[in-house]
Amino acid sequence: MPTFAGQPVIELRDVAFHYPDSDFALAIDHWIVETGEQVACVGPSGSGKTTLLQLLAGTLVPQSGTIDVLDSQISNANESQRRSIRLREIGMVWQEFALLDHLTVLENVLLPLRLDREIKDLRPHRQAAGELLRKLGLENRVMKFPLTLSQGERQRVAIARALVRTPRLLLADEPTGNLDPSNKRNIVDLLRDYASSHSATLVFVTHDHSLLRDFSRTVNIAELNSHALTAQDDANA
Ligand code: ADP
Ligand code: MG
Repeated sequence: MPTFAGQPVIELRDVAFHYPDSDFALAIDHWIVETGEQVACVGPSGSGKTTLLQLLAGTLVPQSGTIDVLDSQISNANESQRRSIRLREIGMVWQEFALLDHLTVLENVLLPLRLDREIKDLRPHRQAAGELLRKLGLENRVMKFPLTLSQGERQRVAIARALVRTPRLLLADEPTGNLDPSNKRNIVDLLRDYASSHSATLVFVTHDHSLLRDFSRTVNIAELNSHALTAQDDANA
């Protein structure tokens, strides 16, 4: 089903999440991201940025409240439904890129398709993945292994993997972490260009304030988390 500008792509209501063995708790009363928005997420280390992305991707599930992502209520979906939404509709770029060292560049990019049990024939996708790699300037790296690549090249492989299924939602977790300024700029431009040209929505976690002006808005997780605000008020009382 197509999504249109102005419609929420992400909507959280009364979400409460905590890890079983940690004091950290996330409470988000209401948060909306609309179709086509490019949102930067900031917040101190440990404020819950990665946790929030994992809740959106359905790798974590809140103890209460609802999380709507694209056309599904991911918070109430079962594990296999969540996995399928994640593989088919969400592109993810993780910190340190999370490439598999024993797979070639092409195999890494095809991973979201290979993990999808409903895809029996990878051949047509191989061609699309090859084209994407060519577009990203990696045509001579297709059969190489990640450890033989430069950091900038690994970063583009991670982006190709996130884009290979033309997702409507892109989640990026500090993907510019240890990169030099020109590679940083490159990754932000590639993700933003994809989002703009595909009317996709981008949620980009960063601690780099020099990147914020590129985004349509910035959200601070420490301010979004009403549990953190309450804890702070109690400490100040
Ligand atoms: P950020 O990405 O903003 O640095 P995280 O979302 O990774 O923050 O973590 C938020 C808090 O939750 C931290 O205090 C962290 O120690 C804790 N935490 C993260 N992952 C786990 C886990 N798997 N189990 C227990 N506690 C966790
Ligand atoms: Mg994090």
